[in-house]
Amino acid sequence: MDASLQRLNVHLASVQPSATYRMMDRVAARRAEGANVISLSAGEPDFDTPAHIRAAAIDAINAGHTRYTPVAGMRALREAVARKFQRENGLDCSWQDTLVCSGGKQVIYNALAATLNAGDEVIVPAPCWVSYPEMVQLCGGRAVIAKCEHGAGFKLTPETLSQAISARTRWLILNSPSNPTGAVYSRDELRLLADVLLKHPHILVLSDDIYEHLVFDGAGFATIAQVEPRLAERTVTMNGVSKAYAMTGWRIGFCTAPRWLLDAMEKLQGQQTSGASSISQHAALAALEGPQDFIETSRRVFQARRDLMVASLTATPGLRCDLPAGAFYAFASCEGLIGRTSKGGVPLRTDEDVALALLEEANVAAVQGSAFGLGPYIRIAYALDDQALRQASDAIAEFASACR
Ligand code: PLP
Repeated sequence: MDASLQRLNVHLASVQPSATYRMMDRVAARRAEGANVISLSAGEPDFDTPAHIRAAAIDAINAGHTRYTPVAGMRALREAVARKFQRENGLDCSWQDTLVCSGGKQVIYNALAATLNAGDEVIVPAPCWVSYPEMVQLCGGRAVIAKCEHGAGFKLTPETLSQAISARTRWLILNSPSNPTGAVYSRDELRLLADVLLKHPHILVLSDDIYEHLVFDGAGFATIAQVEPRLAERTVTMNGVSKAYAMTGWRIGFCTAPRWLLDAMEKLQGQQTSGASSISQHAALAALEGPQDFIETSRRVFQARRDLMVASLTATPGLRCDLPAGAFYAFASCEGLIGRTSKGGVPLRTDEDVALALLEEANVAAVQGSAFGLGPYIRIAYALDDQALRQASDAIAEFASACR
């Protein structure tokens, strides 16, 4: 075969496959060997999509809504999205200011691909969702990782933001509640970041609000374009139905953004995937406009699971974990295990060693923090029922106690 046949796009060639998916593959392999693995690695709610949403999708199929929709999404759904942004986020937004995509992920990719040119920088506060730096890379930009330490609650401070800004900065990505740390930015914290951004009018802001409804202990949710309306003209406020309505497989995300950017994103999407699935759009419409009690019910369940999981992690020798304020992740330091040896004889030099030994020896899957840009940590997704979580936390405690 001609060697040049397999020459890849230069940007793709250096992109890392997702560490989360890699761990999920390992789990599948262990299960195929017969191991009874509890997976705390996947970022999705374990609940079924609510019945009225499923029914709306079935009705859509039976009513023949099975054809292409406009690229930017069905008018009725875009109107519902605009109402959502007005109602829940206080954003001044009409349906023409919205775009519907195949998942929140496509919103982010569209925004970056539509705007990045070679050498453009994107500030990514880390620990961060694994996909941000890789998407930036795919789009020919350069991710500038702004480290957010434990002492700062894993959150971007105005000082760290100021230091990361250069003349080449094109975007800042914000994600609250955060994957992987569960950190939630308060209104005041966003205010301080907004003050920095107001001094740098060349920077666009991408606010990834996909975990908006999973905020605990009565803390409120805020998004930056709401806190500082002057930033709305350069902010993409992204959200979706995946996490809020247990709809990860339906692939519907959406945003509001300035019109010039929406036009560019729509143009890109029109040559790529076209409009999102018509059936899923009908389901998303039912989600946004139907009864909202599912959101509060699942929030309470996740809060109770968080309490259960974090109490156990805190009591485990070698681990340390603060109470996360949102999402469904606990980000536990495993510094106390580094330099030790697992019961199975594996030297634990890095958090990846810890995650792999945990899978092999305790049949629990978690993802190493270094994959999210900060080690030595492990990210634990507590999107399983209490019994599975108890079993997993016992296994983690037993594993850690046996390390020498
Ligand atoms: N943003 C963050 C921080 C996520 O964790 C995820 C999914 O894991 C997404 C966006 C993507 O959401 P969607 O499933 O709607 O594409």
